[in-house]
Amino acid sequence: MKVSQLLNPTLREVPAEAEVISHQLMLRAGFIRKAAAGIYTYLPLGLRVIKKIEQIVREEMDAKGGQEVMLPIVQPAELWKETGRWDVYGPEMFRLKDRHDREFCLGPTHEEVITDLVRSEVRSYKQLPLLLYQIQNKYRDERRPRFGLMRGREFIMKDLYSFDRDPEGSRESYRKMYEAYERIFTRCGLTFRAVEADAGAIGGTGGTHEFMVLAESGEAAVVFCPDCDYAANVEKAECLPHPDTDQDILAGRTGEVHTPNIKTIDQLADFLKINKSSLIKTLLYKGDDRFILVLVRGDREVNEIKVNNMLGPFLNLRMADPEEVREVFNCEHGFIGPVGLKDVYVAADLEVAEMKQGVCGANKKDYHLLGVACGKDFIPAKIADLRMVTPGEPCPKCQGRLQEARGIEVGQVFNLGTKYSQALQATYLDDTGKEKVCYMGCYGIGVSRTMAAAIEQNYDENGIIWPMPIAPYHCIIVPVSLKDENVVATAERLYEELKALGIETVYDDRDERPGVKFKDADLVGYPLRLTIGAKALAEGKVELYNRSTRQVELVEADRVCSLV
Ligand code: ATP
Ligand code: MG
Ligand code: MG
Ligand code: MG
Repeated sequence: MKVSQLLNPTLREVPAEAEVISHQLMLRAGFIRKAAAGIYTYLPLGLRVIKKIEQIVREEMDAKGGQEVMLPIVQPAELWKETGRWDVYGPEMFRLKDRHDREFCLGPTHEEVITDLVRSEVRSYKQLPLLLYQIQNKYRDERRPRFGLMRGREFIMKDLYSFDRDPEGSRESYRKMYEAYERIFTRCGLTFRAVEADAGAIGGTGGTHEFMVLAESGEAAVVFCPDCDYAANVEKAECLPHPDTDQDILAGRTGEVHTPNIKTIDQLADFLKINKSSLIKTLLYKGDDRFILVLVRGDREVNEIKVNNMLGPFLNLRMADPEEVREVFNCEHGFIGPVGLKDVYVAADLEVAEMKQGVCGANKKDYHLLGVACGKDFIPAKIADLRMVTPGEPCPKCQGRLQEARGIEVGQVFNLGTKYSQALQATYLDDTGKEKVCYMGCYGIGVSRTMAAAIEQNYDENGIIWPMPIAPYHCIIVPVSLKDENVVATAERLYEELKALGIETVYDDRDERPGVKFKDADLVGYPLRLTIGAKALAEGKVELYNRSTRQVELVEADRVCSLV
C-alpha cells in the first residue's frame, strides 16, 4: 500500500474528547472516527488491527474444536421472555419494533439465540460436546460510553457457547477455553492476568474468570498474590473473617455505589442509612467517585432455601440503573442480583425500602419476595463483621502479601450450568434414552476493546508501538528524498521484495519532509521502519529502525529482506 493512497488522516493535536491514551492515539493515528457516542467507524488501518486480533482468536477457537457460526443481531423478544431476561436486562438493551409492532432487540449477548438453535438441532448425546462461536457486533446502550473502543455501545465481540452432557464435560470445555484465552492474549503480545470474578448479570452456577490486561487506565481493580496464582477482581475478592470476631461468614460480595456526592465513609453510611460500623470495608477508587461496598451477613440460623432466596440478591449484586431503581423502588439507589432465573431488585437503603407486610424487594409487580421479614429472615443492616482482602494483606491461599493492580477486562469465561438450557429446554437423549438438560458455558472476548487495551500497554510520547502480531502493517519504507533516483529506485525495489516475501509493507511515497513522515510512522506505530537516504545508500546501506527498542541499524540494502 502506498501512503499517498491510504485513507490515514493523522492529527497533530490531541482531541479534546479523548480521556485515555488509547482513544487519543486511535483518533490521532487515523484508526477510528466517531459516528455517535460509543459508535465508531474503523478506518483501513484500524480494521486491519481488528482483523489480526480476530484471526488469532479464530485460530485458537478452531484449535479447541470451536465451530464458527453467525447468529442474528436482531433478536426476537419472545426468546428473551422465555428466559425472563427481557424484563430484567434494563436500559442497556437497545429495543426496537418492526412494522407489525413486534418487539426485538439488538443482541447485547447471544445465550438465548444460541440455546434456541441447539434445542432445535441437537437430539443425541453423540452430538455433544458442541462448541459454537461467532465474531460479531454487540449492542449495549452503556450508561457511560467512554474511552473510545474501550466502552462502546456498538462493539466487536467473539462469543463462544459450549454445550456439554454433564458438569464434568462442561468443566472440560471451560478448561479448554481458559487455555485458549491464555494463548490468545499471549499471542497478541499483551501482559494480562486471569482473575476470579463475579458472575454479574449473566448469572449461572459455575465459576467465572475475567482476563485482565494490566494497565493504569483499567476500570477494574484486582488483587493478586506475587507468590502463588491467587488473583481476583476486588468485586469478588474473598472475604476474611474480621480478627475481632469468630462469627461464621456465610458469604460476601460487593456492589458498587456510584455517586459523586459521597467522598467519605461517614457520608456513605449516611447515604445507605446504615450504621457506619457495619460498613466493614469500603474502598475509594483513585480519583473516582466509586465505592466498593462489602455486604455480608453472618447468621447461620437461616434455613437454606431462605439463604438462597434472600441472600441470593446480596451475593451477586450489581448496581441497578437509577431510572430502573426509581421505577421499581421509588427510591434513589439500588442493586440488582439474580436469584435463579429471575433477577431480584434490592434497595441499597434496605432499611427504608419497601419491606412492609412481609413483602421485600420492590414495589413493582413480580419483583417481590413474599413471606419474608427483615430482621427475621435476613439482617441487611447488621452486615457482619468482615473485611475484604486488600493490598498488603496476606493472601487467602498462601502467606504472600497481596498486591493491587488496575485491569481492563478483555475477556470473561463463564461456567453457566443449566440456567439457559433449563429455561429454554435445550435437552438431549443420553445413552440410555433418557432426556437430559445440556450444561452450558459462555466465553466472550472484546475484540475491539482488546485493540484499545493493546495500545494502553504499548505506547510512548510519539505514538503507538504495535506488538508485531497485531500491527496493521509490519513495516514502512520511507525514502528521504523523492528527487534522488537511486533512493526512489531502491525504495521501490525493497517495497516489491518485502511484499513478495509476505511482509506487510507500506511505502511512504508522499512528497513530504522526512520529519513529517517519521512523525506519522511513529504515531501509527509500524514496528519496523526502513529509511532510504542518499548518504547511506552511497555505501549500499539503508537504515532499519525498530519502533519498540528505538534501535537504528545500518544494514546492507541487499540484505534487508533476510533481516526483516
Ligand atoms: P464490563 O464489565 O466492562 O462492562 P462486561 O462484563 O459487561 O464488561 P461481558 O458481558 O463479560 O462484558 O462481555 C465479554 C467481553 O466483551 C468483555 O470482557 C469485554 O472485553 C467486552 N465488552 C463488554 N462491554 C463492552 C463495551 N461496552 N465496549 C467494548 N467491549 C465490551
Ligand atoms: Mg458491562
Ligand atoms: Mg465485567
Ligand atoms: Mg464480563
